[in-house]
Amino acid sequence: MPTLESTSTEALLKRGIALYRESFPNSGEPTIAAAAPGRVNLIGEHTDYNEGFVLPMALSNRETIFVGNSFVDSGLGNLPRARVVSELRPQEPAEFVLRDLSPEGGFSGPAWANYIRGMVAQFLERGVRVPSFDAVIVSEVPLGGGVSSSAALEMACAVFLQEITGLALSAVDRARMGQRVEHVYAGVPSGIMDQFISSAGVAGSALLIDCRTMDTRAIPLDDPDMVIVVVNSNVKHSLADGEYGRRRKACEQAAATMGVASLRDATREQLESCRASGALGAPEDKIYERALHVIEENHRVLEAVKALEERNYTRFGKLMYESHESLRSNYEVSCKEIDILVEIAREVPGVYGSRLTGGGFGGCTVTLVRADSVQSLLKHVELLYLERAGRSPTCFVSQPGAGARPLEIQLA
Ligand code: ADP
Ligand code: MG
Repeated sequence: MPTLESTSTEALLKRGIALYRESFPNSGEPTIAAAAPGRVNLIGEHTDYNEGFVLPMALSNRETIFVGNSFVDSGLGNLPRARVVSELRPQEPAEFVLRDLSPEGGFSGPAWANYIRGMVAQFLERGVRVPSFDAVIVSEVPLGGGVSSSAALEMACAVFLQEITGLALSAVDRARMGQRVEHVYAGVPSGIMDQFISSAGVAGSALLIDCRTMDTRAIPLDDPDMVIVVVNSNVKHSLADGEYGRRRKACEQAAATMGVASLRDATREQLESCRASGALGAPEDKIYERALHVIEENHRVLEAVKALEERNYTRFGKLMYESHESLRSNYEVSCKEIDILVEIAREVPGVYGSRLTGGGFGGCTVTLVRADSVQSLLKHVELLYLERAGRSPTCFVSQPGAGARPLEIQLA
């Protein structure tokens, strides 16, 4: 079964430096490097943009970026510019001038470079001068695999740009800048969770995040008998983008009807009374179901934190299954393949719980399993997913990694 392991920092440094030398033979050596992780959300789905609670962990798998050049403008009259190469897109190097970086700025380069253009634009908008740079990206976070490579790329960029400009930013500032890049440059109206956990992840812990106040609490995941397995369904249904926007609108409508600032403040009682009075609109719009998911999911996150702290994995697992069921039937963001993966996990002894993780319509499941049952789970998933869904899955066993940070470069 294909599994994804995280690479050692040394191996990443080696790959990054080699790619930089090969890509920019006249640019000297890279002098700055930054890394930022992908993420998996343990519980709390579609709650972030409702100012609710989430419990993600950063993965040990990271996107890394290696940056060099003299970091001075290329001379009088010459505009600063960037050249960027991604190991995963070797045929599509990007080059752009560091001004007029609006999304409509007439950029004819590869689409992936918009994440970098977008992040540079965030710095320029703050009045910071960004000097010329050359950069290469080496990643061990699968692209479009439901573990947020885009947020990892954004956060790695933010960190290196901080290093070359000296701009001080909090983890929340960085995350908000990434969220803006996602909205404006990728057209994805996402919440703050992905960028924030990539920015602020704590090695060895999941992070309870209050998406209203951005307060956090690290919840240690240090029990060697318990393992988090991420399984990528390797499907992504294309209706995802429009549906995501529709879910957000339904939540806003529900909150407005109940007279609360966001669904974070709504109670089940308020929701039921609005439904009883017919205020939630036509049943086929499913406003009730969408709001019900969010209200209950927020409770589940807080319950799940308690369960994790008490090492009550049976309870934690039950909450994961309940979360999945609600995402499937109330929020309607699951799909056949993801449901199959959750069902397979449920059949394997030693599995505590499993659920859709991420925005939905494909992507990944996250499963909590006893360490001595991991191999059995992987075997079952490989065999049965192929049999029932006609596809091969990709599995990750990842430890909770650290958030975005500079990497020290040792040249060999
Ligand atoms: P996810 O964030 O779940 O991985 P997205 O579709 O949001 O999926 O982001 C994936 C996109 O991010 C890629 O299609 C690409 O444009 C960009 N990206 C992320 N990491 C890299 C990388 N290392 N090299 C090139 N593009 C990247
Ligand atoms: Mg993404």
